[in-house]
Amino acid sequence: MRIDLHAHSRVSDGTQSPSELVRAAKAAGLDVLGLTDHDTTLGWAQAQATAMEVGLTLVRGVEVSTRHLGRSVHLLAYLPDPTFEPLLEQFDRILRGRGSRVPAIVERLQGHGIDISVADVQRAARGTAATGRPHVADAMVSLGHVKDRTEAFRRFLNPGMPGYVDRYAASLVEVLRIVASAGGVSVIAHPWGRHGSVAMPESSLAELAGLGLAGIEVDHQDHSPADRETLRAIAHNLDLLVTGSSDHHGAGKIDHELGCNTTDPDEYHRLLALASAAAARSGRRTPEVTGAMSP
Ligand code: AMP
Ligand code: FE
Ligand code: FE
Ligand code: ZN
Repeated sequence: MRIDLHAHSRVSDGTQSPSELVRAAKAAGLDVLGLTDHDTTLGWAQAQATAMEVGLTLVRGVEVSTRHLGRSVHLLAYLPDPTFEPLLEQFDRILRGRGSRVPAIVERLQGHGIDISVADVQRAARGTAATGRPHVADAMVSLGHVKDRTEAFRRFLNPGMPGYVDRYAASLVEVLRIVASAGGVSVIAHPWGRHGSVAMPESSLAELAGLGLAGIEVDHQDHSPADRETLRAIAHNLDLLVTGSSDHHGAGKIDHELGCNTTDPDEYHRLLALASAAAARSGRRTPEVTGAMSP
């Protein structure tokens, strides 16, 4: 049983439609796929229809852009009620922040002598609800300024580079509370990815566990083998779930192929049990998990 709980479609910054992503997951030999687009659930319906068709179990999720102690934290919310108003309000604010950042990035790039317009980015972001730096990168590739997204981030879009602009992110503590109230389960995505272990030591993870965090994405390409072992031990100490996933972005991110990291079936079943409990507690109607690998 192969389970990959974190992947993106074109509804955010992946390069496949939700349907194409699900078919690719099936072709990659996965039994369970988590669709976790950034800050939106708009891909869920199409992905679920294809999952039923091809016989794959889909776990509907979202990767929420949050901030904690001044740093960006990606929070994977699994199986929340997508109609829960406070959650929709957060998505709306984040998506508006994403939209208003595009002209600011374009202006900075232009100031740096790069010939690019907002329309170029909009063209690259067609079909997307969550416009981000990857779409700016795609526009730069189309215009011949860089060869791929990786080069665009390295030279222009990473923090400290000439095209970098910050954007609104929701409060992590608040989103943990909202996800629980929406009957969902929260797992922190690649906690030691960008800033290393300093930004999220065991004490912080313990504090977040007390505030509703249910799991840690341990097996992720951004984590070294040593970091994975340390995080696994921390998860064990704190009685948190351990997940593993690809964070696939289609052709948009190298070395993140579907199924390159997977989640242990026992941990997956624990996650589903926590989701059922959260749904019962909150009284919210949360998405069903159907297919051969459902509970
Ligand atoms: P944004 O959401 O606009 O802040 O952009 C962040 C997104 O860019 C992340 O979700 C990653 O998927 C993507 N990203 C970050 N670094 C790279 C990179 N070097 N190559 C491709 N995609 C990247
Ligand atoms: Fe992304
Ligand atoms: Fe992420
Ligand atoms: Zn992701």
